[in-house]
Formats: sequence, C-alpha cells, structure tokens
Amino acid sequence: MSAPAAGPTTRHPVLVVGAGPAGLSAALALRDAGLPATVLERRTEDTVRPGSRAAYLHGASLRELERLSPGLGHRIAAHGLMWATKRSYWAGQEIYTRTYPPSGRDGLPPFTSLPQVATEDMMVTACRERGVRFHWGVEVKSAGTSPDGVRLADAAGREWRADYVIAADGSRSALRSAISSPLEGPRSENTFVVVDLDDDPAHPVPVERVFHYRHPGVGGRNVLIVPFAGGWRVDLNLLVNDDPDKFISPEGLRRWIPRVMPASYGERVRWVSTYRFAQQVAARFTDADHRVLLTGEAAHLFAPFGARGMNSSVPDAVRAVDAVRAALAADGPGRAAAEIGRFAEERKEAARYNRACANAALEHMLAHRPTVWLRRRAAATVAIAGRKAGAWLDSAPYGPKLAQRGAARSSY
Ligand SMILES: Cc1cc2nc3c(=O)[nH]c(=O)nc-3n(C[C@H](O)[C@H](O)[C@H](O)COP(=O)(O)OP(=O)(O)OC[C@H]3O[C@@H](n4cnc5c(N)ncnc54)[C@H](O)[C@@H]3O)c2cc1C
Repeated sequence: MSAPAAGPTTRHPVLVVGAGPAGLSAALALRDAGLPATVLERRTEDTVRPGSRAAYLHGASLRELERLSPGLGHRIAAHGLMWATKRSYWAGQEIYTRTYPPSGRDGLPPFTSLPQVATEDMMVTACRERGVRFHWGVEVKSAGTSPDGVRLADAAGREWRADYVIAADGSRSALRSAISSPLEGPRSENTFVVVDLDDDPAHPVPVERVFHYRHPGVGGRNVLIVPFAGGWRVDLNLLVNDDPDKFISPEGLRRWIPRVMPASYGERVRWVSTYRFAQQVAARFTDADHRVLLTGEAAHLFAPFGARGMNSSVPDAVRAVDAVRAALAADGPGRAAAEIGRFAEERKEAARYNRACANAALEHMLAHRPTVWLRRRAAATVAIAGRKAGAWLDSAPYGPKLAQRGAARSSY
C-alpha cells in the first residue's frame, strides 16, 4: 500500500474518532481533565440522523454529563420528558401499575426521555463551549499502532498521528477492525419493529410507559410503548416466522398501529426500522500496543431493553480518558500500558455484565426457554391479585433479577 499523502501534521496526545454519545462524552472528559480534545467525524455537521434511538437517559448519565460540563445535565433534562407511571398488561388485562412520586437527586430527575439527536446536539454545543475541535466529514479508513503511538489514514488520504486514540466510531467501527478485535456473541432470533410516532395533540395519550405481553390486537405479539419528548416509540416484538415487510409497509403500519394506539397515530409515523438485536462484546478493548481504546458501540452492542447502549457509553468514555490521562503522565511505557490495560479489562467486564442484563430482558420477553415460558404464565395467573408477580412481569423491559442487582452498581 502506498504511504498516505501528507495531512494534518500535528501529533495529538489523543484523538477521538466519532461524534456520537461515546465520542462526545470522551471529548468533554478530555477537556475536564485539562487535555486538548480533537474529534474526527465521518458525517458532515448538518447530516440528518433519524430515529429516537437512545431516548432513555438514566439519572447516572445525566449526573455524569452535568459533572463534565456544568449545566449540560440540567439542559438535557429540561428538554426531556419523564413519565411517572408504568403499566403492564397480559393478553389485554392489566396486571401491574406503579406511579412514582416526583423525585430527583441534585435537582436532576431519575431519568429523562428525548430523541438521541437532541441529546447529541446539546453535547456538541457544550463541547464547543469547552474548546473541543471538530473535524467533520473526516472518515477514518485505517489505523496502525506501534509502541510509540497511532497513525490513522482518512478517506482523503491524509494521515493523523496521536499518542492515543479513543475509538467511538460505532457498531461498524473501522478501528475495531484495524486492531483485529472481533465482536463476539449472538443476535436475537426474533425481529423487532421499532416505530417513532409524532404526538397528536388532538388525541392525547396518557404519558406512561406501557408494556403488553401478548397484545390481543396484534395477534398476541408483545408491544412496548415508551413516550419521549415530542412523540412515542413503539416496539413490536415479531414472532420468529413473521415477515417484517408486512409490518413496516405503509399499509402494514396503518393496519397494526391503530390497534395499539389511537387510530390517528397510524398516520403519524416519523421513522420505522427493524432490528435483530446483537448481544456482542469485542474480544479486546485495546490493541497489542495499548494505544487504541474501544468505547461505546465500537466495543459492544446490546439489545436496547434496559437502555444500556448509550448509558454505558458515557462511563466507557470517562474511564478511557482517565486511563489516557494516567498513561500520558506515567513513569515509563510499561506503566502507561498497564493503565490502558486496566481500562480494557474493567470496561470489558462491565460490557459483559450489561449484555447479561439485556439478555435477561430478551429472554423474559421472548420466553423461548420452557422454564421462563411456564414461570411467566404462572405469574400472569396470579398477578391480577398478587403485586409481586405483577412487578416481576413488569420488569421485562429492563431485565429482571440482574437489573435489580445492577441498581446497586454505581456505573454501567
Ligand atoms: C432502536 C434503538 C433504541 C435504542 N435505545 C436506547 C436507549 O433508550 N438508551 C440507550 O442508552 N441506548 C439506546 N440505544 C443504543 C444507542 O443508540 C447506542 O448505544 C449509541 O448510539 C452508541 O453511541 P456511540 O457513540 O458508541 O455510537 P454512534 O452513536 O453510532 O456514533 C458513532 C459515530 O461515529 C461516526 N463514525 C463511524 N465510523 C467512522 C469513521 N470510520 N470515521 C469517523 N467517524 C466515524 C458515525 O458517523 C457516528 O457519528 C438504542 C439503539 C437503537 C438502535
């Protein structure tokens, strides 16, 4: 391969690749640590990014963003929406409801719900205020590491050099490929249809999170309905042999959406997509030279139940910056490498834990295992009278058991 043409000649202490939630968190953390932050992003700044995606932001993420950039957590919370009531149904019959009193540590709510793009836009503004440099329209194509640092080549043939690279370039990460760290793990057998609906002020719906097991209006398929600022996300859990196209065609959408939402919402589809959710973790979170640090979806992919994707990208990025800062200040290459190695081990363990939680949610919802299927049925029978069984069934969208243990953990 011929050498890349001469490009930006500065050698950076650290470069961030990707301006999604992981990359933007890393940039804010670098500035908080007093380090320069430069972000290379493939998109142009005005590229439209559709879909609500990581709508559900945990209180822990809000607090972390507030710490990195005072005012940011509050700004995001003010733009988001919080529902106080969650409700579950079994075959059309209500089995559980719970309403929480208004609360919030540090004045921040326990969670907020808004489109991912709105959160990212506020993060970009905060980055700018803190002196982060963005290079939009720069696609990293390849990377080479050595004991001294990293050389990146972009699509225009320029070379970028850095001591360390924080890889936040998402699920198809070029950097993950460059360091030969394959994703390991399965993909859900079932397809999920994910639809964003615009609010219809003429037909308001109570602002509640609703989960239906075996919704009678859609042939006994599961349906999760989640409000976010400006709209609704509806996840329809298809059966293994369903043809997804029948559910996402305009006629298909007009047929099933009015059976789970008021009729007018069938005409208010803003975005629709289908997923078979990956449950995958990268084999290694750094390279042999300990110079590239994988974060966010470059490092792991989870089913969205429990909202662990973006919410774990924030601590990935913060921990990566801690490690880079320590490595830059370390007394010798061995100690520097050990700092990065610790990051890689810790965040891989966190990712495996998060995958287990998301997996528990998937298993609970899909009930492919006969034991889960039987337990669910038994719980549904008693849930109408028994609150405990109802609470267990209601935990499906988060992942039962593990999620309860996880609540005690300080970071995802
Ligand atoms: C339907 C759905 C619902 C979800 N719901 C939730 C939720 O409620 N809560 C939650 O926490 N998570 C949720 N997630 C997951 C969440 O969207 C992701 O975890 C999150 O976007 C990951 O952030 P990231 O920064 O790692 O990657 P991305 O958001 O994918 O950002 C990567 C960035 O890198 C750029 N890039 C890619 N390749 C290159 C390259 N070669 N050079 C330069 N730049 C590059 C991309 O353009 C992009 O801007 C959901 C996901 C889906 C699909």
